[in-house]
Amino acid sequence: MTTAAAGGPRTYQVRTYGCQMNVHDSERISGLLEQAGYVRAGEAEDTPDVVVFNTCAVRENADNRLYGNLGHLRPVKNRHPGMQIAVGGCLAQKDRGDIVRRAPWVDVVFGTHNIGSLPVLLERARHNAAAEVEILEALDVFPSTLPTRRESTYAGWVSISVGCNNTCTFCIVPSLRGKEKDRRPGDILSEVRALVDEGVLEVTLLGQNVNSYGVEFGDRYAFGKLLRACGEIDGLERVRFTSPHPKDFTDDVIAAMAETPNVCPSLHMPLQSGSDDVLRAMRRSYRSEKYLGIIEKVRAAMPDAAITTDIIVGFPGETEADFERTLDVVREARFSSAFTFQYSKRPGTPAATMDGQLPKPVVQERYERLIACVEEITWAENKKLVGETVEVLVAVGEGRKDERTGRMSGRARDGRLVHFATGGAGEPGDAESIRPGDIVHTTITYAAPHHLNADGAPLSHRRTRAGDAAEAGRSPRTPGVLLGLPTIGAPAAAPAPTTGCAVSP
Ligand code: SF4
Repeated sequence: MTTAAAGGPRTYQVRTYGCQMNVHDSERISGLLEQAGYVRAGEAEDTPDVVVFNTCAVRENADNRLYGNLGHLRPVKNRHPGMQIAVGGCLAQKDRGDIVRRAPWVDVVFGTHNIGSLPVLLERARHNAAAEVEILEALDVFPSTLPTRRESTYAGWVSISVGCNNTCTFCIVPSLRGKEKDRRPGDILSEVRALVDEGVLEVTLLGQNVNSYGVEFGDRYAFGKLLRACGEIDGLERVRFTSPHPKDFTDDVIAAMAETPNVCPSLHMPLQSGSDDVLRAMRRSYRSEKYLGIIEKVRAAMPDAAITTDIIVGFPGETEADFERTLDVVREARFSSAFTFQYSKRPGTPAATMDGQLPKPVVQERYERLIACVEEITWAENKKLVGETVEVLVAVGEGRKDERTGRMSGRARDGRLVHFATGGAGEPGDAESIRPGDIVHTTITYAAPHHLNADGAPLSHRRTRAGDAAEAGRSPRTPGVLLGLPTIGAPAAAPAPTTGCAVSP
């Protein structure tokens, strides 16, 4: 029996696939549903009144997975009258009405530009006992104006733009999320302040290409200014951003990073390939020399910056020499971490139909060599931190082995993952008193390729408002903060994301 059938409020569950954009969109979907009176279904509840799939179109078999999941839910829904199923996200934007043709038991299909309509669409579908499909081709309301149920008490995502004006040939974002729409700086800063007022310590500014932020209102230095403005917000301890694009990276952003104390010394900048020929085929208009030049300037301004990246191996036409060039850039850039992906066709992207698709064994072999090369470097870079004291923002869910090892986990200012030992009972930094969202200083004793350990007792432990909120079981909620954009564009053609540059192709 669903909760509503038992006389309680209607419950919901959101199942999220894909990139950070989708994770953040799911926070908005939850915020909207809760504003409309729904309550989140308990972990163990297998028959929520509403199940929302926030889909991703990135993987070749993404649609098979969706229809498989929908198929599993069909008998559940048949047994529970009143249950509703909604499908949103990139795959919904792409497949639209096909979804209800293939799975007629779906109640609502909504696109990436009309998340805000979901409660109304669910209501209408219930009232009319018929499926509702609503896909807008262009952004109607900037998604950051929607109420948001935040998943973390100490860190929050804040959208600065959606969509992307680039045309990388492996990426589905431009066709599914549309052209870049920038949010006004005042609205972004209001949302950041609202989060900080709720105790949040760390904010990540989110956009497919943060370096082109401002293109819409004609200020190519807008992103650097935004970073500096974040530096003025009392109580905001850490500012991160993702993803920058090497093509649009300007020196003022490096200066703003270096000169704004709460901007973290970390940079995640997608490389994708070290070969200029492959970059050309990817239609990414920087070359490896420019990429390495940015890193050199970042290191000159912030010697301790941790630089991370995304790399795709096996792009159509990639030769052994092209791949070797990627390894060269990896060695020269000395990344502290890299997300590595084997190229796989994304339906609807230009690269999917290019000549020169590589056999899987070739891609696999290069991928394994790339991982070995990356790990050798990340391990060597991490070892340099042994003996250093780091500030850790204590996190939830970052240390899978914490229960067994008795450690806690969190991120250093440079973004590195740190597993740390706690103090003995009654000592400063004892396990009982440290909460997620608190700040700990500790000394690194061991380095692995993907994490650092600190096995002495913490040098200090600061209780924070985020920690208080975590202890009280509160999560920040931001209301629809101002209207970031007027209604833009008219329904006419199509968009949804998944992956920006920072996510797997
Ligand atoms: S990979 Fe990034 S920059 Fe390129 S089109 Fe996609 S979202 Fe835009």
